[in-house]
Amino acid sequence: MRQIVVIGGGIAGVAAAWFLRQVGGSQVEVTILEGSPRLGGKLATVELAGVPVDTGAEAMLNRRPEAVELARAVGLADDLRYAATTSAGLWTRGALRPVPAGTVLGVPADLDALAECGVLSADGLARVAREPEVPGAVVEDDVAIGKYAAERLGPEIVDRVIEPLLGGVYAGHANELSLQATVPQLAPYLRDDPSMVHAAQQAKAAAPTSDAPVFAGLDRGVGGLVPAVARASGARVRTDATVRELRRTPTGWQLVVGPTRAPELVEADAVVIACPARPASRLLADVAPAVAADLAGIEYASMATIALAYPATAVPDSLPGSGFLVPPVEGRLIKAATFSSQKWGWLAERAPGTLIARCSVGRHGEEADLQRDDRDLVAGAVADLHAVTGIEGPPLDSHVARWGGALPQYAVGHRARVARIRTGIAGHPGLALAGAAYDGVGIPACIASARLAATQVLAPWSDPERMTT
Ligand SMILES: Cc1cc2nc3c(=O)[nH]c(=O)nc-3n(C[C@H](O)[C@H](O)[C@H](O)COP(=O)(O)OP(=O)(O)OC[C@H]3O[C@@H](n4cnc5c(N)ncnc54)[C@H](O)[C@@H]3O)c2cc1C
Repeated sequence: MRQIVVIGGGIAGVAAAWFLRQVGGSQVEVTILEGSPRLGGKLATVELAGVPVDTGAEAMLNRRPEAVELARAVGLADDLRYAATTSAGLWTRGALRPVPAGTVLGVPADLDALAECGVLSADGLARVAREPEVPGAVVEDDVAIGKYAAERLGPEIVDRVIEPLLGGVYAGHANELSLQATVPQLAPYLRDDPSMVHAAQQAKAAAPTSDAPVFAGLDRGVGGLVPAVARASGARVRTDATVRELRRTPTGWQLVVGPTRAPELVEADAVVIACPARPASRLLADVAPAVAADLAGIEYASMATIALAYPATAVPDSLPGSGFLVPPVEGRLIKAATFSSQKWGWLAERAPGTLIARCSVGRHGEEADLQRDDRDLVAGAVADLHAVTGIEGPPLDSHVARWGGALPQYAVGHRARVARIRTGIAGHPGLALAGAAYDGVGIPACIASARLAATQVLAPWSDPERMTT
């Protein structure tokens, strides 16, 4: 019987436990050590106005298989729900306008669609239209997507389209985020031709067409995924069990767990580190110093979500379907709002006559707004929602969730950094890394990283054919 410890009980950690049991079967005993009092990490569901509302991740990309397949595999097939609408708005130039169709994270492939939605001024549009003729070098190495796009497409589309769309995923700054890591679909084309419009057109043409809904959710909230995966994995789960040290032993690993005044030593044959980059770096400081240094360089954005319940009578008829994004240049508190009860039919059924809205606040390096107390954050979100949509306050109920270290920032050079980290870890058999810090921040990417980590630590004694999910 091999003892395997997974450090961190977010989606990556529980998925790693699931895959470990899938491959190792009865030969493997898995323990998940979660530092906080609850499993889930960035997935959490609370009750607001009597209905469940996700305060962290609320949607799973359905055009990648990992998340929906895992949900099915752990018995949640009947709970899968698909977004009723994905039509979102953009608050820009004094009005709520549709997010332009036909872009790759804001990089336009379809200039007519861009013109039609009115998000850019005539000058901004003309600048984008000239882009294919703008001279410039092809992209051999990584660059900041915002800087490159501003040089090629002009600053207006960066400020008003690319920045808010990237912000919706990374809560970061386009001038710092990596082109290779955030829009990997474009990178291969930009090696031959510097035009971003051409690259977006080629990427769109190469993308498989699909009628499948873009997003899936779960009845009663995506927060239910983590406990379901943990249960199905058969792993032993310990919460309030922070791992403070990791040591190599002649036969495997030793972990120091719990408070300094009462440390506990846990022995393991293999370890999957599925916590964010900073604690992972601290754990690896002695075992793999170069890997630890690279991990320490991955910065995180903190953010808060403010969930609000309004009576339907307070809500105008013309709300955009799933919500709207706010470009930072607009100077508002909120960066985005999701109209959860319009997006998810299951929520609308449970909350008839109520609008559930969820606002996001905070960006990398801009923590000042997060210092405000809950009442102040709610008041700010209510004021912004009123200004943008006309929803009349006060809300019936509210909930503020604060996410310190919410989202890793894929800075310029991120992919090279991750390659070095993986090479360094490969020199330590029985050790692997999983989670949002590496190959994608979304739930499916975290699950894919967990599967890879499970394969890596079990490689010496596993049969990959048994990886059924
Ligand atoms: C507000 C918000 C909204 C989001 N929305 C979406 C969305 O709609 N769709 C989507 O796909 N993605 C979304 N994301 C991103 C996605 O939720 C996360 O990237 C993903 O859940 C991260 O999972 P993880 O397991 O890598 O890390 P985490 O969820 O951070 O889990 C890591 C766990 O490790 C624990 N830990 C840390 N240190 C230790 C230690 N030393 N010992 C033991 N345990 C430790 C932590 O307590 C935590 O529980 C969102 C993220 C946020 C913050």
